[in-house]
Amino acid sequence: MKYFSTNKQSPFVDFKEATIQGQAPDKGLYFPETIPTVDKNLIVDIENISNEDIGFRVLKPYVGNTIPDENLFQIVSESISFPIPLVKISDYIYSLELFHGPTLAFKDVGARFMSRCLGFFLKDEKKNVTILVATSGDTGGAVANGFYNVDGVEVVILYPSGKVSAVQEQQLTSLGKNIHALEVQGNFDDCQQMVKQAFADKDINQHLFLSSANSINIARWLPQQMYYFFAYKQWQDKSAPPVISVPSGNFGNICAGILAMKSGLPFQHFIAACNKNDVVSIFLETQKFIPKKAEATISNAMDVGHPSNFTRILEIFKQQFQELKSNLSALSVSDEATVETINSVYSLHQYLLDPHGAVGYFALQHYLTKHERQKGIFLETAHPVKFPIAVAQATGKTIEMPYDLKQLMQAEKQSILIKPEYAILKDYLLKG
Ligand SMILES: *Cc1c(COP(=O)(O)O)cnc(C)c1O
Repeated sequence: MKYFSTNKQSPFVDFKEATIQGQAPDKGLYFPETIPTVDKNLIVDIENISNEDIGFRVLKPYVGNTIPDENLFQIVSESISFPIPLVKISDYIYSLELFHGPTLAFKDVGARFMSRCLGFFLKDEKKNVTILVATSGDTGGAVANGFYNVDGVEVVILYPSGKVSAVQEQQLTSLGKNIHALEVQGNFDDCQQMVKQAFADKDINQHLFLSSANSINIARWLPQQMYYFFAYKQWQDKSAPPVISVPSGNFGNICAGILAMKSGLPFQHFIAACNKNDVVSIFLETQKFIPKKAEATISNAMDVGHPSNFTRILEIFKQQFQELKSNLSALSVSDEATVETINSVYSLHQYLLDPHGAVGYFALQHYLTKHERQKGIFLETAHPVKFPIAVAQATGKTIEMPYDLKQLMQAEKQSILIKPEYAILKDYLLKG
C-alpha cells in the first residue's frame, strides 16, 4: 500500500515512511492510494472471529510488508488488550465503551498502536526519535502511556498550566523515564505554536530527529477502524445495521469509521456529534468550510475550530458533496444540552455519561426521532471519572475512583514550569 499527500505535492510513501514522517513534507495528510475491501467472510462470520484476528485482518492491507505478520499481530494484540463492550441503554440506543484502556479515553488504542509501530521501525534504523506533542488534555496521557519505555524514543509533552483536569495532568506528568512534561504558563494555542516553531527550526532538526504523535499520523488514525468492527461484531440484529454517532473534535475517529464502512462494514449512517465548535455542521448545510477559533466547552477534548482530518473524509467521498451528505450528518450540541443529557440518562437508565459521550448520545437521539424504526450506537469516548466536575454538576453525584486511578493521583508530579516562549523550549531541546 502506498500513501499520497492530500496536498498532492509530495512523493508517494509506504506505511513505514508515512508513520515516521507524520505529516507529509507539503503539509498535507497521508491518505491510502486505494481503499481495500475487507474479505466478505470477515463480515459474515465476524461473531466467531477474535478481536485480535479482526484487527490484524483489517490493518494488514494498510501496513503491507513493512511489518512482518507475527509482529503486526503482536502490536494489534497489545493495542486492544482491554474490553471494548457494547452496552444496551434502551431499546434503540447502545453505548460502545472505549474508555477501558490505561488512560480511560479512546486515544489509548491509536497511541499504543503508533508507539509500537514506531518502536519496531526505529529498531532497524538505529535512530533516536524525539516525539514532540502539545496537548489540551487526553492526547498527552495516551501518548505518555503508549510510548513509556519504548526504546529509542524520548517524548516531550507541552500542556497548558491549570487548563487540564487533575487526572489528565497526573497521567502525563507522573511517569518519568523517557517521558518529559513541560507545563506552559499559557493556553493550548501557545503550546501548539511552540511545537510548530520547533518543527520548522533548522538548528533543532540538525541535532534531533523530531516526530509528532498527533492524530494526523496514519499509525494513530487507521487502527481506530477496529472499534467499528468490534461494534458490528456485538450488534445483534445483523439484518438492520446501526446508525453510529461519534463525538468529534479533530474528526480522526469518525473518519476511521467511515473508512471502515467504505471498505465493506455495513452501517446505516454516521453522525458527527460536535459541541459548540460547529465548523462541520455549517459545512454540511452551506458547503462552505470556514475554520474558526476553538471555543472552550465542558467536552474539552472536542474543542477544535479547524478539524484537520475532515479533508480525509472529503477524500473518501472523492469530494462528492451529495454522497458525503447521504452518509454523514452533523449536529452541534450546547453545554446546557450536554449537562441535561448526563442528568436525564442517569435518572432514566442509571447510566453515567461523560460530557463527550453525552454529546454523542444527544446527537443520536435527535437523529432517531426523525428516523423512526432505526437504532443506533454512540461511542462513549472517555470514562466519566475523568470529568468529575461536569458529572457532579449534572447529577449531584461524586464518582468513586477506580483503585488504579487513586494510585495515580498519589504519584509524584514531574514537570518543568516554563513561560510560553519558544527560546525556552529550544534551549531545553538542544540541551537534551
Ligand atoms: C480526542 C477526543 C475526542 C475527539 O476525537 P477526534 O478523533 O479528535 O474527533 C472525543 N472524545 C474524547 C474523550 C477525546 O479524548
